[in-house]
Amino acid sequence: MKYVVPVPYQAFLPVAGSKHRYPVKRVYCVGRNYAAHAIEMGGDPDREEPFFFQKNPDNLVINNGDFPYPDKSQDVHHEIELVVGLGNLPIDGAKNISLEQANDFIWGYAVGIDMTRRDLQAQCKERRRPWEVAKGFDHSAPCGAIHAVTQTGILSQGEISLKINDDIRQQGDLNQLIWKIPEIISYLSGLFRLHNGDLIMTGTPSGVGPVAAGDRLTGCIAGLDDLHCRVI
Ligand code: MN
Repeated sequence: MKYVVPVPYQAFLPVAGSKHRYPVKRVYCVGRNYAAHAIEMGGDPDREEPFFFQKNPDNLVINNGDFPYPDKSQDVHHEIELVVGLGNLPIDGAKNISLEQANDFIWGYAVGIDMTRRDLQAQCKERRRPWEVAKGFDHSAPCGAIHAVTQTGILSQGEISLKINDDIRQQGDLNQLIWKIPEIISYLSGLFRLHNGDLIMTGTPSGVGPVAAGDRLTGCIAGLDDLHCRVI
């Protein structure tokens, strides 16, 4: 048996501190998932059901690569996000994962940027159309190396920030996530059978804004390698 066109490239993330690679199967993203000041206000300001969209594995930009400013937009925004990589799942995946089990299926963590064609997203919202053109375009997912959870431990707090050149534009703490990571995994597994190699981008803190050619983006999450990305 032969494939009739060349076999597509297997998307992957480099593994921090290793020559190994983490193969990427799918990329799920959580919509609005931080509320500034939620913690000091006593939490849970507005827990409407989480919602999800997807990027494509081949949208990943790895090894601190360049982000080419895309066509069809004049308003591309950065969204810094903690990326969770799943692992330790049965070979045929799992659904309806309980909250108690969810952390067992985290393989590791990375720093990612959910690049967004904000003008196209606004049109999609207005016209009640799907978001792919705004979210799932080429190079729309710059992502750093994945760190094994066996090295980092479970991440539930710590600073998350994004700089453009030397200016901090986004800053928050992982403890401000409205839907916590085990809740996201459990909820998502009720909608889709989850597999080894699935990534989840967990949402962005406040401060999103436009990028321009020549910008140097630096994404930081406490305990993980910084992500560097240049807009060209
Ligand atoms: Mn996002």
